[in-house]
Amino acid sequence: MSETETIFSKIIRREIPADIVYEDDLALAFKDINPQAPVHIIVIPKQPLAKLADAESQDHALMGHLLLTVKRVAKLVELNNGYRVVINNGPDGGQTVNHLHLHILGGRPMLWPPG
Ligand code: AMP
Repeated sequence: MSETETIFSKIIRREIPADIVYEDDLALAFKDINPQAPVHIIVIPKQPLAKLADAESQDHALMGHLLLTVKRVAKLVELNNGYRVVINNGPDGGQTVNHLHLHILGGRPMLWPPG
């Protein structure tokens, strides 16, 4: 697998199943397979960007779109009492899939610090 060819690329191409909750031209959102909260959704760009640290100024609009997608998806799944958004970046950030993704966690009060 190349750095940009991940399990998430396969989900985008519908080669493996996922519980997709939202899709538009630039982004896809699906339920995490190993949820860490009652609601745990992954938002990804369709463009294969490995991690946040790889984003450049030309990705400015995409980055904004992903955050607004988080807001839209959270509303869609009725996380009306709040939620947490997490981006794990690189090995020390706990990133295990090398395709940029935003975690939406909700359905219970979140703890802080996250550890
Ligand atoms: P991270 O540790 O930030 O890289 O998060 C990767 C996330 O992707 C983890 O929470 C995994 O549970 C999730 N994940 C991995 N494979 C799948 C899959 N096939 N469908 C849905 N979520 C997945």
